[in-house]
Amino acid sequence: MAVKIKNMKDTLQRFLFENLAVRGELVHLDATWQAVLERHEYPEAVRNVLGQLMSAVSLLIATLKFNGQLIAQIQGNGPVSLLVVEGTSEKTLRATASIKEGQEDFSDESLQGLFGDARLVITLEPQQGERYQGIVALTGENLAGALTDYLLRSEQLDTDLWLAADGKQAAGLLIQKLPETEKTKSNSNVIELNSDIDGWNRIQQLSATIKDEELLELDAEEIIHRLYHEEDVRMFEPDLISFRCSCSRERVAKMLKSLGVDEVNTIIKEQSTIDVACEFCNHKYSFDAVDTKQLFASNISHDSPKTEQ
Ligand SMILES: [Zn+2]
Repeated sequence: MAVKIKNMKDTLQRFLFENLAVRGELVHLDATWQAVLERHEYPEAVRNVLGQLMSAVSLLIATLKFNGQLIAQIQGNGPVSLLVVEGTSEKTLRATASIKEGQEDFSDESLQGLFGDARLVITLEPQQGERYQGIVALTGENLAGALTDYLLRSEQLDTDLWLAADGKQAAGLLIQKLPETEKTKSNSNVIELNSDIDGWNRIQQLSATIKDEELLELDAEEIIHRLYHEEDVRMFEPDLISFRCSCSRERVAKMLKSLGVDEVNTIIKEQSTIDVACEFCNHKYSFDAVDTKQLFASNISHDSPKTEQ
């Protein structure tokens, strides 16, 4: 593993077009995406949308203005009932997909075929302050379109997105038109405004020439050069992205407690232990009769730090 890491890049590259009110981001996920795929096996079509959603969440957390997390879900009534990707302001991600039991036919790889009638739900959860949730219907041909729709509605920002994923990596490109007030080196006269509209259109057209293979195979610098070599682009210091699951024995204990003592005792009687696997990282938490007795014996026991696993 340590040998491989050298070639693995999990980076988020932000950039800005000088003199244009347009910013951009590129994300490339290797180890982070592999960490998801190592823990669960998904049909290819499901895997690719999950990877795309993971790239999208990386792009969205790049500019979070609070400490906390962003959760993106696709909820549908098709063969795939749920995709979840959680990203934090610390640039960590985790992801999971739920497939309906007994479902084996994924021949229709369109979003409609996979998710049926579905919606994209984006939840912003600051550690302090109020939760915000935005919901858009998952219509159209790809996930990028639904996200563009979400960003326009929730933030009134013109955005364009390209997302790609395969069995090895996941990647994405975002460009966004900034509000006039945030424009760098602004001389607000009519000529500059006009040239800005042209600028946005030009950057959109250049970006749209990106191919999935390029997005997946090339690093940020190469992509930026290939697409925008005639533009004046400022690149920022890249951020590192990694996989991290926030599950813990304490959280599972809390969940069991919420089931109630009768329910828990019934399961213990039937199976002698309660085994709970984290849906994100697949880590297994096991509770036997002694553990569960302790769980309900005291109200504070499950909150006290526990070092054993
Ligand atoms: Zn976990």
